[in-house]
Amino acid sequence: MSTFQAPKGTYDLLPPNSATYLAVREAISAPLRNSGYGYIETPGFENVELFARGVGESTDIVTKEMYAFETKGGDRLALRPEGTASVLRAALEANLHKGGNLPVKLWYSGSYYRYERPQKGRYRHFSQVGAEAIGAEDPALDAELIILADQAYRSLGLRDFRILLNSLGDKECRPVYRAALQEFLRGLDLDDDTRRRVDINPLRVLDDKRESVRKQLTGAPALGDYLCEACKAYHEQVRELLTAAGVAFEDDANLVRGLDYYTRTTFEFVHDGLGSQSAVGGGGRYDGLSEMIGGPALPSVGWALGVDRTVLALEAEGVTLDIPAATAVYAVPLGEEARRVLFGQVTALRKAGIATDFAFGGKGLKNAMKSANRSGARLALVAGERDLAEGVVQLKNLESGEQTAVPLDAVVDEVRRTLG
Ligand code: AMP
Repeated sequence: MSTFQAPKGTYDLLPPNSATYLAVREAISAPLRNSGYGYIETPGFENVELFARGVGESTDIVTKEMYAFETKGGDRLALRPEGTASVLRAALEANLHKGGNLPVKLWYSGSYYRYERPQKGRYRHFSQVGAEAIGAEDPALDAELIILADQAYRSLGLRDFRILLNSLGDKECRPVYRAALQEFLRGLDLDDDTRRRVDINPLRVLDDKRESVRKQLTGAPALGDYLCEACKAYHEQVRELLTAAGVAFEDDANLVRGLDYYTRTTFEFVHDGLGSQSAVGGGGRYDGLSEMIGGPALPSVGWALGVDRTVLALEAEGVTLDIPAATAVYAVPLGEEARRVLFGQVTALRKAGIATDFAFGGKGLKNAMKSANRSGARLALVAGERDLAEGVVQLKNLESGEQTAVPLDAVVDEVRRTLG
């Protein structure tokens, strides 16, 4: 152990478990790559104002959880707490929306940082795969994204998750609702912080998890009753498209989510095996965000799925992913000449695309065979002086123990044949 440890609220991904994380990222992105989404990568930090304006001045993410700092050059930056604002910033900066080919569909995968109180499923450094469809107002696009997330989770073998769906209205009907909600909330017994929230962002009060607040919320005006005809029709179409696709969802009138930029469709994927940190992913429509960060009107929709919590969900359901062993063939040289010859064979096997490893460090036979078994390899290539004198290596099947001599120039073909 060194003097140092991973910072509080973070953890390291180490083999062999790290392979599950890679597989999860791969599984979440596969449906996106299959549906016209192009890969985007943005910096790990941005101008702090982008998040303040984009995510919302009154949100917990911006007020409490952001890793914000000033550089030596005087720039005010923040480690990214989420992906949407950065992706939209990058798309606008590169004028991706101007090619006339809307929506611009992008996917990303990366690390995000929030100064949260760490607990199982909640970390200060976590990983998301996300998707954004920028510049189109079409219920089919909202439905597409929800269907693709559902497909991703199902392809991983997850079953115990639910999709919660809501509409937050638009700039026509939300202000009317907001005013009605504020009037209701101002009549409650709330602490000063919550009162301030009533003034700045009353919808967030509906999201309050404290029992003292929750019990006062019964009878609060429901957003669904205030939706304008256009929002109602839009939401109904999203619901119909999901139903037609066979994707089950639950209407949840209280789903507001922790970010300010959402309009109309909002949704969350929750997993029932995760305890309090049950949201494995979430997203929604953010028609006003582009204008909030100085761009043109670009109605958009997106989601982000948490990789860490998806891995926890797999564990909760007892799902083990079928991840092929990293190594298929393990080479064990006995003596100097064998080292040289077998190392050449290893290189040739790797060039042929066969995952191969080598007993480095001059291990004896016993130790080397132990390493071969631990590597998960199906075959070992063993050679000593006598084999080399005969121009062969021993190909040992580590499952059956069966061993055959193979001429040096036939190793790649024979290994390929044996592995099938
Ligand atoms: P959000 O942008 O807060 O809706 O986050 C989207 C998803 O990212 C969540 O559903 C979680 O799976 C994941 N996530 C967000 N914050 C954290 C965190 N602090 N630790 C681990 N996962 C997180």
